[in-house]
Amino acid sequence: MRALTSGPDVLTRDGGPVRASPTLRDKVAILSDGRCLVSRKHADDVDVLGVIALARRMGVRTRDPEFVDLGSLRSVYCGETGRAGTGREMQEGGGPDDTAMQREVQDLLARAAQAQASDIHVVVEGEAAGVRIRVDGDLRPLDGGANGAPVHWRAEHGRQICMTAYAMAAEGGTADASYDPFSFQAGRIMTGLPDGIQAVRLQFNPVGYSGRHLVMRLLYSGHAAGSSLDELGFSAAQVADLAAIADRQTGLLVISGPTGSGKTTTLERMMRRIVARYPGESILSVEDPPEYRIPGVIQLPVANMRSDNDRDNAYTEAIAAALRSDPDRIMIGEVRTRAAAHHAFEAAMTGHQVLTTVHANDALGIITRLLDIGVEPYKLRDPSLVTGLVAQRLIRRLCPLCRRPASSCDATVPADLAERLRALLPTDRFWLPGDGCSSCRNGYVGRTVVAETVRPDATLLALLCDGQRQDAFRHWIAELDGRPFLDHAAAKIAAGEIDPLQAEYRLGKLVR
Ligand SMILES: [Zn+2]
Repeated sequence: MRALTSGPDVLTRDGGPVRASPTLRDKVAILSDGRCLVSRKHADDVDVLGVIALARRMGVRTRDPEFVDLGSLRSVYCGETGRAGTGREMQEGGGPDDTAMQREVQDLLARAAQAQASDIHVVVEGEAAGVRIRVDGDLRPLDGGANGAPVHWRAEHGRQICMTAYAMAAEGGTADASYDPFSFQAGRIMTGLPDGIQAVRLQFNPVGYSGRHLVMRLLYSGHAAGSSLDELGFSAAQVADLAAIADRQTGLLVISGPTGSGKTTTLERMMRRIVARYPGESILSVEDPPEYRIPGVIQLPVANMRSDNDRDNAYTEAIAAALRSDPDRIMIGEVRTRAAAHHAFEAAMTGHQVLTTVHANDALGIITRLLDIGVEPYKLRDPSLVTGLVAQRLIRRLCPLCRRPASSCDATVPADLAERLRALLPTDRFWLPGDGCSSCRNGYVGRTVVAETVRPDATLLALLCDGQRQDAFRHWIAELDGRPFLDHAAAKIAAGEIDPLQAEYRLGKLVR
């Protein structure tokens, strides 16, 4: 691994005994024989002096610094990590200093947190960089530029922001290797965060023509740690279904929905409920990576993988490890490969309960998806193995204070939608968003789940495995008292909890 195999160790290397950020490693290298190589441009840098002092405190007999050019300094580290080209885009000095940049990242996080954003997107492309935040599922520009205009930076500034965010994660030891603008990288900032933010998960993506895309996911410390499912928006019948499935203690519960549909939150709530009800059980989770700590659950992380392939392998390995760890129940963040599905079913077939998610459009589509992944049909036909299928979406919730009543004659409702609503709703009365008030944003507050839950029987599973989708749907409705998405959406539209336009936006046309 080490380039200087016969020579001294580089103490400031990534993961080395003297902790140094990637930015700092572009300024200094301290070797185990006491040599201190310092970039000429950073001869008087306080951070350089600081890390040399740190090494001294650790007992390293440092010699007088040797001033070298950036190239020689990097070659010391590149030989070390074998990652030639690392930091190709880093500024050779002259940029804003680290502390000022850190303050700017912190300010960015604070402003996003104030808007209750779930994510911040920084996109560097061409000559410019832009910032958008996701609030209640929708991306919008981050205000705060001159006169409240959206934030726009020069590309170089955007790159500096990305690098600084990376360095902040690396300082906490939660990012791998060195910053490389041409790689997919991940990390997590754990310290120096604004009040109310527990951690920030980072995902860096290279974008063509030396661009960069950084997504920062904000994990709030005030995150509702409840175990209640109805407050997420599930109906009483759905909550009863989920409770009955969880109480079975064996079998597979699968939740589906697109990214951002709240699957993880539902899983997390279910886990909290299980921990509360069955404190004597051993519960493990495999997550990519765990977002929130769930007390009582041993959470195995699959983090910072460079490629899908690495990630899938690491995932499979972690699931296999969880299975060998004497579990009662296992939560698997997502099943997307045949190997992961194989382990999930193996666990269910040996008397464990498995909770997981897959990408599928609706609850019945989960079986089709699992067949596609390569799960053998005989496993999918067994209702003692497949105990629950759930699909969900998140839809913006109308502000109850300023929503306005409407009917299908309302001028703002498109004619075709009006017709669908007349067919769908018990009365020709629903609500539309108001103009916004002091307790909402544009007429909406938060989001609510629209879902369907299925407790399959052998007939339903057989029909689905045989590709008899229509018959399966009819059987579910007629014999298993099935209530599809549409029913749940209609109830919420009639109750004024959501509006029909948002419902169609997330669910498609409201047609039976
Ligand atoms: Zn309002």
